[in-house]
Amino acid sequence: MGSTGVLAVQGDFTEHVHVLRRLGQPCREVRLPEDLGKVDALIIPGGESTTIGKLSDRFGLTEAIRERTLAGMPLWGTCAGMIFMAKDLGAHRQSMLQLMDITVERNAFGAQLDSFETDLPISVFDDGLFHAVFIRAPVIESVGASVDVLSKLKDGRIVAAEQDNLLATAFHPELTDDPRFHEYFVDKIG
Ligand code: GLN
Repeated sequence: MGSTGVLAVQGDFTEHVHVLRRLGQPCREVRLPEDLGKVDALIIPGGESTTIGKLSDRFGLTEAIRERTLAGMPLWGTCAGMIFMAKDLGAHRQSMLQLMDITVERNAFGAQLDSFETDLPISVFDDGLFHAVFIRAPVIESVGASVDVLSKLKDGRIVAAEQDNLLATAFHPELTDDPRFHEYFVDKIG
């Protein structure tokens, strides 16, 4: 069974580790490039994308994650993690992996909807809606031709997508009891 890493420089990495442990999946917190060498997939958690980017740069992780992902390692970003993976953030200038062909708008929901929960249809799950928790969440404004949209809000804005070995969710599956996204992601290993 492959080991799943969780980037552990900032954000809610512990919650991802808990879900993986509950599923009986081998996992490891990734803080340094050496840790990355020991995992077969990587999750980038929610948190603050500018901080995750800065710390990843400082520890030599940004380049290491880019190289591994370009060589085929499955990579999943939730919320801030999705922002860090994107190729385009519009006017925002911050450290980015620039791996996924999506344009992302940070903090896309106004003050009143800063945080909310909703039930979403997910195209790759045929066994019911997914309860999604959004916290100062981004949305995907547009996707490139090789990206599959997995879920949209009622207003049509894209909140989950996949591109080969890359998975992105604007919400936080690690904060609910539904393990389907984690199962779906670890299935991408090998
Ligand atoms: N608003 C955060 C950012 O722009 C993301 C919030 C989150 O990960 N819950 O980085």
